[in-house]
Amino acid sequence: MTIHSWVWRRVRIRKVRVRAVRRGASGRLEYLKYKEVARDLVLRKLAEFNLFYNFKYNRISIKNHKSRWGSCSKKGNLNFNYRLALVPESLVDYVVVHELCHLGEFNHSKNFWNLVAQTVPNYLELRNRLHKINM
Ligand SMILES: [Zn+2]
Repeated sequence: MTIHSWVWRRVRIRKVRVRAVRRGASGRLEYLKYKEVARDLVLRKLAEFNLFYNFKYNRISIKNHKSRWGSCSKKGNLNFNYRLALVPESLVDYVVVHELCHLGEFNHSKNFWNLVAQTVPNYLELRNRLHKINM
């Protein structure tokens, strides 16, 4: 194989890969790959922080959301983004505590943020870092 044809082969492979990413094929694979890692991590963090908060939660789900790191339903079900498996641990702490605190305050009031600050005092800095990450 000449250098020239080797380069063109690489370019073609890259193009196919970019198309796959656009279609979400590799996104799906990445989700399947990291889902259980994220679940283990989130469950461990929830148990750890709930020693302090002592809230009641129901089902924990790991999702492939495109624009949210976590959410909390009125029924006490917590959802988390699988990408938590791929970010620094301090950011995982923030997201887990954020959703956990919604079980006590189902809003973003001053009381809610005070609750978050009890275990994550630098939550503002972490929230900013999180918002800068492209999903
Ligand atoms: Zn929230």
